[in-house]
Amino acid sequence: MAKDRTGQKGLIFNIQRYSIHDGPGIRTIVFFQGCPLKCPWCANPESQGAIKPVTWIKNGKKETISYWVTVDDVMKEVEKDEIFYRTSGGGLTLSGGECLFQYEFATNVLKAAKEMGISTAIETAGGTSNNAIKSVLPYTDEVLYDLKIMNPLRAQAVIGESVPLIKKNFETALNYPTAHVTPRVPLIPGYTTLPRNLEQIANYVLSLGIHQIHILPFHQFGLQKWYYLRRNYIMRNTPLLTDKQVNDMHDYFASRGITAVISGLQ
Ligand code: SF4
Repeated sequence: MAKDRTGQKGLIFNIQRYSIHDGPGIRTIVFFQGCPLKCPWCANPESQGAIKPVTWIKNGKKETISYWVTVDDVMKEVEKDEIFYRTSGGGLTLSGGECLFQYEFATNVLKAAKEMGISTAIETAGGTSNNAIKSVLPYTDEVLYDLKIMNPLRAQAVIGESVPLIKKNFETALNYPTAHVTPRVPLIPGYTTLPRNLEQIANYVLSLGIHQIHILPFHQFGLQKWYYLRRNYIMRNTPLLTDKQVNDMHDYFASRGITAVISGLQ
């Protein structure tokens, strides 16, 4: 089955309960299959590419890791932790992959959550159509929006991203009255951490009146997955950032009048 344009079914590869990293409070995260970008540091490389079931080889066994679900399937999982959402200020987060790649399904899931009084968030890199983000915004409380490489030529070459498009989608979310937008910058050595890139990010958010961002230091949690997929992980030997390096970037943003909250997993 290809993408379901009615939005009644979606292809996902995981539902993770009790997360404290992807939005406020305790959250349930639904990981959507498919992503139009190709970040070489991706922690969920199984999600890259088209919306179709993916297999990998783990411990010598071939496994299909994505599966079709209905809105009801998702909500049955999500409602199990309603009490925790209420006591912690948490809720549902759609992630991926790129959850807006299946925006019809994302919209229906978010709408169902709002109808149940559950707080909603999406994690997005904004690399999809403007219609996609417009579709989900009425049902989204929090938009966690990644800003990565800001040089248009380099963004296109390295991750296949259109900078004008991600800016347009970012500003659409920012201007939507009921959604709160948190810009997030994954700190990827040799890519997003280059001084000129950090400067371009600072210039961009300041031009929109934003004075707080989140920064997410590079990690290697996706390493095994690249191996299971038999794909070459070019970040394999890239060292983690030191505390000093992260603090220096935090201080650079502070010098520009931006509070950079150091966050966890992405
Ligand atoms: S946008 Fe996210 S999911 Fe898509 S390739 Fe980049 S890191 Fe991976």
